[in-house]
Amino acid sequence: MNRAAAPRIAVFGSVNMDLVAYVDTVPASGETVQGRQFRQIPGGKGANQAIAAARAGADVAFLGAVGDDAFGVQLRTTLVDSGVDVSGLRTVAGASGVAHIVVDAAGSNSIIVIPGANGTVTALREGDTRLLDGARVLLLQLETPMSGVVAAARAGRSLGATTMLTPAPARPLPAELLECVDVLLPNQHEAAALTGHDDPERALAALLESVPEVVVTLGGDGSLYGARGREPVRVPAVRVEPVDTTGAGDTFCGAFAVARAEGRDPEEALRFAARAAALSVRRQGASTSMPTRAEIDAF
Ligand code: ADP
Repeated sequence: MNRAAAPRIAVFGSVNMDLVAYVDTVPASGETVQGRQFRQIPGGKGANQAIAAARAGADVAFLGAVGDDAFGVQLRTTLVDSGVDVSGLRTVAGASGVAHIVVDAAGSNSIIVIPGANGTVTALREGDTRLLDGARVLLLQLETPMSGVVAAARAGRSLGATTMLTPAPARPLPAELLECVDVLLPNQHEAAALTGHDDPERALAALLESVPEVVVTLGGDGSLYGARGREPVRVPAVRVEPVDTTGAGDTFCGAFAVARAEGRDPEEALRFAARAAALSVRRQGASTSMPTRAEIDAF
């Protein structure tokens, strides 16, 4: 794809180093077990969405923070290697964000996230407005402090970007944030946590009272899209043999943002996102599994 013609997308959010231990059984308090494998994988929902969008063909700027430690250097390099503009990625004193993940033999995981540098992203900083200006889409998540997310959403909205929020980890959404969000993209668990409705259609209807467009992702069952004044639409997932679904939602969001930024209508954008996410679940890891534009178009 011709990068000069690629639409600009800004991503404001988290970047973590995922430290993943694969074990047969998770140790109880005071117990030591031997693990099977250890992997160190760049992650964080913000960075994952930025990499997904860049690989899917957009000109992406990432706004966030890493620490002045070795992880910070590696995380920055990963974003650069994926073609992401990191002029809005600050290096701050202290540790980078880490996610300490234990995966047991059944594939279930328990996760401890230590925000580190992500916790310093409490507001927009000098130069951020320049990066947001001209972005067709601004992607937001909730792994950084709410005050910064609200400031970014406000600035993105006032500069004409379509603002898309992945409400993860799920927590109550303040009105001052919701009024600046164009598209909310929860998975079915987040949609249930936000609305109290386990039924995705009911959750969708409830969320549409607060924002104009909602996409509820349903794992292998695809996604459900709604906009005010329109009948909800279900878009199926693309059938594949799943290997690792980590990061499927972030791949989906990044690709959906690219398609919308290119002016495709919502249903077309959802089909493009479903193809990208299906390709990612066929491979291990999150950022490591995200498909390129050529792969999505050929799929
Ligand atoms: P999250 O990763 O945020 O929990 P989901 O599990 O809902 O998000 O997945 C997001 C999207 O990824 C789905 O809407 C679907 O398009 C795709 N996807 C997820 N799991 C599978 C699967 N097993 N097979 C094919 N596509 C999948």
